[in-house]
Amino acid sequence: MRVVVKVGTSTLAHATGRLNIRRVEQLCRVLSDLKNAGHQIILVSSGAIGMGVGKLSLSQRPNDMPTKQAAAAVGQCELMYVYDKLFTEYNHTVAQMLLTGEDLENGERRTNFQNTLYRLLELGALPIVNENDTVATEEIAVGDNDTLAAIVAKCASADLLVLLSDIDGLFTADPRKDSDARLIPLVEELTPEIYALAGGKGSDLACGGMETKLKAAKTAMENGFDMVISNGQQPEKLYDIIAGTPVGTLFKSGRRSAFGN
Ligand code: GLU
Repeated sequence: MRVVVKVGTSTLAHATGRLNIRRVEQLCRVLSDLKNAGHQIILVSSGAIGMGVGKLSLSQRPNDMPTKQAAAAVGQCELMYVYDKLFTEYNHTVAQMLLTGEDLENGERRTNFQNTLYRLLELGALPIVNENDTVATEEIAVGDNDTLAAIVAKCASADLLVLLSDIDGLFTADPRKDSDARLIPLVEELTPEIYALAGGKGSDLACGGMETKLKAAKTAMENGFDMVISNGQQPEKLYDIIAGTPVGTLFKSGRRSAFGN
């Protein structure tokens, strides 16, 4: 299977913005093992700004563009340093790909990105994608990594997109506020009722929320690949997800579902 795994800042970093070492180690071990088993993995990793906030000891996530971009420049280095170190332990080679919205909209640049991506996969490398936050101002930004991951999965003709989040999946109500909230294990159609379930984002360092995840699900379902939302606190769940065992919420694409129809 070709799988795009998106990991959010809340999974990679503590609330302080500092690296969640245990979590990142688990994630890299599982992804390395899945690669060893023959799956092609593309990682879309957030965390540049969050980790920059931690490394620069800023008191909170900045709102002004220059500080955000400076934090991203610092944090992206830290992120790739850690990935390179941990994946190297398992004998895997990482490749950094930083993109803006313009790169994905412009036909020629998108083709260049796709050519490089395919070549990296042929070479057995593990592409690690993020938005190029140091240059991506509002006009040219994709804006969030759920959307970016869905576009990358589409460009890569992936079989499956997994969004690792700070929540178990899509719920009937916000589980942080409502104890009666139930997890919805399977979504086969994005109805207005499903869209009505999207709440706000879960942590101060994060960018997306359920709204951007449903937007990503729309891209997945329209382009014939499946998407799963699962809790990033347990990276081992990726084994079950890829094996087709129900975990989190599966948005099942009718046309080309990786898990049969
Ligand atoms: N590109 C941002 C970062 O690395 C994250 C965007 C997102 O999480 O949606 O900090």
